Amino acid sequence: MEVLVLIPVIIILILAVVYLLFLFCLSLLDDISIALLNKPLYVHFYINPKKISPNQQSILNQRFAFYSKLNQKQKNYFNHRLVKFINKYKFISRENLHITEEMKMQIAATYVMLTFGMRRYLISIFDKIIIYPDEYYSKFSEQNHKGEFNPAMKAVVFSWKHFYEGQQITNDNLNLGIHEFTHVIHHNSLRNQDASSLNFKKQYEKLLQEITHLPNRQRLIDSNYFRIYAFTNQFEFISVIIEHYFETPNEFQAEFPELFQNVSRMLNHKF
Ligand SMILES: [Zn+2]
Repeated sequence: MEVLVLIPVIIILILAVVYLLFLFCLSLLDDISIALLNKPLYVHFYINPKKISPNQQSILNQRFAFYSKLNQKQKNYFNHRLVKFINKYKFISRENLHITEEMKMQIAATYVMLTFGMRRYLISIFDKIIIYPDEYYSKFSEQNHKGEFNPAMKAVVFSWKHFYEGQQITNDNLNLGIHEFTHVIHHNSLRNQDASSLNFKKQYEKLLQEITHLPNRQRLIDSNYFRIYAFTNQFEFISVIIEHYFETPNEFQAEFPELFQNVSRMLNHKF
C-alpha cells in the first residue's frame, strides 16, 4: 500500500529532474550557439500561434517595409508576437488622445521588428505605454520631451506626433519608436541572463570597445553620419545607431562595415 502511494511522487520527481536537465542542456546549447554563431539556439517556437485579421495584415504590408519583406512563415511569427504584445502591455492615453487599434498596432510592430531576432521578447522591465498627442512637459527633468523610457515607472512614453513622423519618414535616421524601445531592450539586457540578453550584451561590449578607442571615436564624429546627440553617452549612442541601422542600412554598412555587423549580430537580424 505504502509503495503504491509513493509511485506518483516518484514519477513527479523523475519528471522534475528530466525537466531541469532539459533546461540545463538548453541553456548549455544556447551558450555554445552564442559563442560560436552569435545567436541563440532558436528564436521562434509557438504552441498556439495567434493570428491577425487580413485587414491588419494589409496595413502592415503597406506601412512596414520590414514586414512586407518577410516570408509567410516569418509573417506568422510576427503576427503572433504583435497580438501578444498588444495583449500584454497597457496603452494609456494622456491629454484626451484617442488611442486607436491602428496606433497600438504601429507601436507593437516597431517593438516586434526590433526584437524579432530575440527569443524572449515579452519582458517585464516595462508594463505600460503612455501616449501624449504631442511634446509633453516633464516635471522631473523640467523640460519638454518627445519620448522616454522611465524604468522607475515601468513606462515607455511617446508623443504620438513624433512617433508617427518617425514611422512616416523612413530614411532620415530619426525614429522615436526604435529609439525608446532600444533603451528598453538595452536596460533589459543588462539585468537578465536569458540567451538573447546574453547575446545582446556580448555584442554591445564589443561595440563599446570599438567606439571608445579614440581614433575610431574621432572617425565616427568626423563622418557626420551619426547625429551629434549620439555622443551624449553610451545609452544614447546605441539608440541612435539602431535608428540608423533600420533607416539607412546601405549607407551605414558602407560607412562603418564592422559597426554594422556588430549591430546586426546584437539584434540577430540580417537584411
Ligand atoms: Zn534616448
